[in-house]
Amino acid sequence: MSSEPVKVVVVGGSFAGISVIKQLLSSLKSSKKQVQITLVEKHDARYHSPGAFRALVDAEYGDKIWVPYTSLFPKDSGHRVIKDTLAQVYHHHIVLGSSGTVPFDYLVLCTGSDNPASGKFNNVSSSAEAVAITSKARSDLTKSKSVLVVGGGASGVELAGEIKNAFPDKQVTLVHGGPRLVDYEGYASGLKSYSLKHLQGLGVKVVLDQRVAIDGLDHEHSIHVGQSTITTKSGETIQSDIQLLTVGSCVNTSYMSTLKPKGDDAFDSSSLVHNDTHAIKVQKTLQLANESFPYIFAVGDCSDFSNVPTAASAAFSAPTAAKNLIQLIETSSSDSGKKAKLGPASGAPAFMILATGPNTGVSSLPLFGTRFSNFFAKLLKSKDLMIGNVYTEMGVSPK
Ligand SMILES: Cc1cc2nc3c(=O)[nH]c(=O)nc-3n(C[C@H](O)[C@H](O)[C@H](O)COP(=O)(O)OP(=O)(O)OC[C@H]3O[C@@H](n4cnc5c(N)ncnc54)[C@H](O)[C@@H]3O)c2cc1C
Repeated sequence: MSSEPVKVVVVGGSFAGISVIKQLLSSLKSSKKQVQITLVEKHDARYHSPGAFRALVDAEYGDKIWVPYTSLFPKDSGHRVIKDTLAQVYHHHIVLGSSGTVPFDYLVLCTGSDNPASGKFNNVSSSAEAVAITSKARSDLTKSKSVLVVGGGASGVELAGEIKNAFPDKQVTLVHGGPRLVDYEGYASGLKSYSLKHLQGLGVKVVLDQRVAIDGLDHEHSIHVGQSTITTKSGETIQSDIQLLTVGSCVNTSYMSTLKPKGDDAFDSSSLVHNDTHAIKVQKTLQLANESFPYIFAVGDCSDFSNVPTAASAAFSAPTAAKNLIQLIETSSSDSGKKAKLGPASGAPAFMILATGPNTGVSSLPLFGTRFSNFFAKLLKSKDLMIGNVYTEMGVSPK
């Protein structure tokens, strides 16, 4: 007699979600349990955000930045991909934007974050539409003579570098509100000064400690075409005919506001996320930090697991969530007599590689001491921005 499969729903098909699914598929090979995995993803393909800025300057790269989900699951496995948006979470089902409800026994939330300037495409539903937006931005960039990049975090440094590298004749200025570039806690301080020297060496003008507000440039409209003049604190005027905003990342967790333990209508769902960042609070096991929901996990940028959320951290910690979930499934039946052995996830080491063109970049790698060189950046990231690995992981080839 066949029993109902255990229903595992993973929401978000990027670094965290795909890594969870790959580990689940691998662990299930040696399990007797019947499990159905459902991936819910709002896009029709996986966006490779680390390649976002190369796509803005290189049409060929832009054509392969969306990677299809077609080979994610083995054929006839019973696992499935639903293209829809998670709108609400309840204790044992989710509500989607347009295709109704999906019940679950276990839920893994991997809905990540949103970034301006084409870093992510959360408000665009199809990859074709996103490709068209990128293509229009590339054409606007190509026509411009002077470019202003706002924000000197990792994204701003990479974007300014990619543009200057692709269009050496353009005047590229990066304006940053703080005193140092890539000023993240826990990263080698030399990375900050080296990034500045590196960008200046490429010919990018960098203005630090300078906040700017440009009409028409905001999170919703993070690429603005039109003349702009800013005056710096020192009285210098900087003109640009295209401006790109790179600051203002936020997590995608608004669906959490409906989650309550069964029968507890008075429960305050806002206690499940941080007041300021709205990141989901998790334990080291990556289960929600609330004992009513041991069967719900959150992984990657949407969770508070990592201080500086990165793809590396998402992919590094995700297998632990999957292994813990499998432990819960394996020990769930009352006759098993086994207790689930759940392990803590470990964070990725604090390394950073910033690509500023196919042959250039800055790296800070604890493995080799701290190196601030083109060599490791080029070797490990700059050439294809790791998109080859993503195609391999997804089991498909670029068109
Ligand atoms: C320009 C740029 C360059 C970067 N470069 C690097 C780098 O070189 N190295 C590095 O380690 N990190 C890098 N990062 C950070 C990295 O991209 C993120 O940390 C990583 O993408 C997080 O992965 P994730 O799976 O948690 O979330 P995301 O990649 O944000 O994916 C979330 C997924 O969930 C989907 N989704 C969101 N909301 C819903 C919903 N409600 N319903 C259904 N689906 C939903 C989204 O469509 C998306 O597919 C970069 C980020 C940017 C913006």
